[in-house]
Amino acid sequence: MSYMDKTILELHELLVNKKVTPYELTKDAIEKAKKDDTNAFETICEEEALEFAKSLSEPEKDNPFWGIPYVAKDNFSTKGILTTGSSDILKDYVPVFDATVIKKLKEKKAILIGKTTLDELAMGGSGVSGHKGITYNPYDPSHTYMVGGSSCGSASSVASAIVPFALGSDTGDSIRKPASYAGLVGMKPSWGRISRYGLFPFAPSMDHVGYFTRSVEDACVALELLEGHDELDMTSSRKEGKKYLESLSQDIKGKKIAIIQEIFDAIHDETIKSTFLKTLEIFKEGGAIVDYVSLDKELLSAIYGTYFVLSCAEATSNNANLDGIKFGSRVGGEKTYQEVMMKARTQGFGEFIKRRFVIGSYSLFKENQEELFLMAQKARRIIVNKVNEILSEYDVLYAPCSGKIRNPFVSEDNRKDEDYLIAENHLAIANFGGLPSLSLPIGLDKGFPYGANVTGKAFDEQTVFNIAYYLEAKLGLKNLSIERRK
Ligand code: GLN
Repeated sequence: MSYMDKTILELHELLVNKKVTPYELTKDAIEKAKKDDTNAFETICEEEALEFAKSLSEPEKDNPFWGIPYVAKDNFSTKGILTTGSSDILKDYVPVFDATVIKKLKEKKAILIGKTTLDELAMGGSGVSGHKGITYNPYDPSHTYMVGGSSCGSASSVASAIVPFALGSDTGDSIRKPASYAGLVGMKPSWGRISRYGLFPFAPSMDHVGYFTRSVEDACVALELLEGHDELDMTSSRKEGKKYLESLSQDIKGKKIAIIQEIFDAIHDETIKSTFLKTLEIFKEGGAIVDYVSLDKELLSAIYGTYFVLSCAEATSNNANLDGIKFGSRVGGEKTYQEVMMKARTQGFGEFIKRRFVIGSYSLFKENQEELFLMAQKARRIIVNKVNEILSEYDVLYAPCSGKIRNPFVSEDNRKDEDYLIAENHLAIANFGGLPSLSLPIGLDKGFPYGANVTGKAFDEQTVFNIAYYLEAKLGLKNLSIERRK
C-alpha cells in the first residue's frame, strides 16, 4: 500500500498520530520515484532523504510539512546535490548553497526525495527540451500527449502520486499550464511573495517561485511556509503574509469574477467551453457576480510576442555566466578563453534555447532595442494597465488554462492563428503584472484532466484561494492523481 496518494494535510494527520513514520513515507516515495516511467527525475536523493527521515522522531503538531516527502524542479540550488537545470552545460554542477525555499523546507523537516526534469533552463512549455529527453504525462501511457512544461517533472511526480508537493518556477505559465494537463493545483503567488534566491534566473522581471499540490488547502499551507522577505533576494517583498488556511472560506457571496470575453472566444474546444460555462453557474449559485468584460484582442494577441522578446532578452543576459569559466562544464582542448566559451556553449546548450539566445541578443542590439526590447516593455505596461483596470472593479479574472485538453507532442494541426496565440498564452498576464494566479482541475475527458485559472489582485492570494476552494468543493475534483482516476 502506498501513502503517497494522500494530500499534505492528510499525511500530516497520520504522522502526528504516529500511524506512519517519515521514514516509511520517504521509502514509499523513493520506491515510486524509481518506478517512474515518465522521465520525471534528474536525481533521486535516496541516501540523503532516508538519512534525514530516520533522524525525525517527534512529530510537530503545528508543522504540516514535518516529515513530508517532496521534490524540487532541478533549477533550484541544492547544497551538495546535483542541480542541472536539465541542461548539459550544468550536467556536473553541484551548488554549495541551498535556495531559500529549499532551506525553509529543510528547516521545517520536509524531505527532498528528488530533483525533477524541466525544459532546458525553464525555457519551454512542452517538456521536450531537457537534456534527458521528453517528460511524459502520467495520464497518458501511450506517450502521445504532453504533461506540459517547463516544470514537467514536478507536475508529473505529483500527478503520479510519488509525492504530494513539488516546487516549480513560472515565468510565463510553467506551473499553471502543466497543472492543467496533470489535474493539479498549480500556484504562482504575487511577484516578490516568495524569495527567488537560489532559483536559476530565466527572466527575473517575470520569474516566480511556485508549486504543485493536489488540493487548495495544501496550496495554502505551502504559501504560509514559503513566503516572506529574504535579505538575500533584493526583489522579495516586505508585505506581511497571512494565515491562508485559517482564513480559507467557501463563502464567495458578492465576489466579482471577470471573464475576458476575447479569451473565452479564443477557446474552440466544446468540452472545455461547456464545462467552463457550468462552473460560471456554480459561481453564481454561491452568490458571486460573474461578468464578461472586454480586453482589446490586439493586445491579447500581442502577449506572446511581448513575452518572447522580453524573456529571451533577459535570458540571454542572465545566462551569460554559463561560459565554461564561471559556471558550466569545460569541453577541453581550447587555446583561448574565447574558445573555452564558444565550445562550452555550443556543446552545452540545446537547439531550442540557442534559438532563444539569438532572438534575445538580436532584440538587445543597440540598433534594435528601441523597436524590440523597449517596445515590448511598453506593450507589457499597456497590457498590465488594462488588466489592473479590470481588477480595480473585480476580485479575480477567471479563464480556461488552455484551448486544448490533450496537447500532442506532434500535432497534425499547425494552427498558430490569433485565437491559438491567445488561448495558449494568456496565462502570462499574471507574470506581466506579478499577480497571484492559481490553476485547478475543472473536468476530465477520456481520462485526461483539464483546468481553469483564477488570477487575483497583487498580494491578494486569499481571495484566489477562496474562490478556488469553493469551486474545488463543488466540483469534487480534489486530490486527483493517476492512483485515483475518476
Ligand atoms: N512556456 C513558456 C516558455 O516557453 C513559459 C516558460 C516558463 O514559465 N518558465 O517560455
